[in-house]
Amino acid sequence: AKHSGRSTFFWYQPEMDAEAQRRKEVEAGLIKALKYDQFDLLYQPQFSLHDNTLKGYEALIRWEHPTKGTISPDVFISVAEDTGLIEDIGDWVLRRACREAAEWHDKTLRVAVNFSPAQFKAGETQRKVARALEESGLDPKRLEIEITESLLIADTDAVVETLEAISSMGVTIAMDDFGTGYSSLSYLNRFPFNKIKIDRSFIKNLGKDAGTDAVVTSIIGLGRSLDVLITAEGVENQDQVVLLRAAGCDLVQGYLFGRPGAVKGPEVIDERALPAGL
Ligand code: C2E
Ligand code: CA
Ligand code: CA
Ligand code: CA
Repeated sequence: AKHSGRSTFFWYQPEMDAEAQRRKEVEAGLIKALKYDQFDLLYQPQFSLHDNTLKGYEALIRWEHPTKGTISPDVFISVAEDTGLIEDIGDWVLRRACREAAEWHDKTLRVAVNFSPAQFKAGETQRKVARALEESGLDPKRLEIEITESLLIADTDAVVETLEAISSMGVTIAMDDFGTGYSSLSYLNRFPFNKIKIDRSFIKNLGKDAGTDAVVTSIIGLGRSLDVLITAEGVENQDQVVLLRAAGCDLVQGYLFGRPGAVKGPEVIDERALPAGL
């Protein structure tokens, strides 16, 4: 792991503020967490709205701190990104997710892994993906990489090349948090991706606000015309399912269907739990 000069700089500031102090402590903790294997992966199910069956899981990291208990990624991912520790943590996540998915009973289920733009290094990323697949024996078709729009702002040839190389291995590329970032539609045909995840902030207001409904409907239409699958994330209630189904959304993920947890194997959306007519 490499250490940025910035964290060293903070260390020697006499009037270090509370936030800088907190981040410094998180950084020191993360180095220990890597060394003593304190990370864990939880898996949140993703279902198809077409046949109501389980299609895979998104891997979500947790830090099992020896005294503080479970720490959420919202607390430490940005520190990991700023300090460069995301490279080692991201590599751990990728290898662990591939290894665990290879052991799942149902060999058709996919595993989706979050990739921070800060861990995305052209060439190296490609090599790391290849190694994780090889050492786990996971079928590349079962691996999905979730990237965000911010990775594409730079629009460097190296990023395109790397994504194309990963994609040509058979790995699925998903655009996470769609609609929250830079949102330039111009990148859409330059990058090889197979899936769009509509951000939770849109799903939250679905059915409550006509503007949001129109945005979600048009993202789903966009997916159709680009021939990419659409996942709705953060689905929490049945009204949202009714609307998403009517709009032609392909996949759903959210607390309504399951919180991040242990892998349970083949499941179907329990239609008895949904209102009649779905
Ligand atoms: P994300 O990639 O957008 O992941 C979805 C987040 O939404 C997860 O939070 C998940 O638990 C939460 N979620 C899922 N369904 C619902 C729902 O119905 N309602 C609500 N309110 N929340 C829901 P989590 O696990 O705390 O992760 C937060 C973020 O941390 C992730 O957002 C992702 O950006 C980052 N993250 C998590 N694991 C990793 C990782 O392994 N690597 C990297 N680079 N980032 C990660
Ligand atoms: Ca994600
Ligand atoms: Ca997301
Ligand atoms: Ca998010």
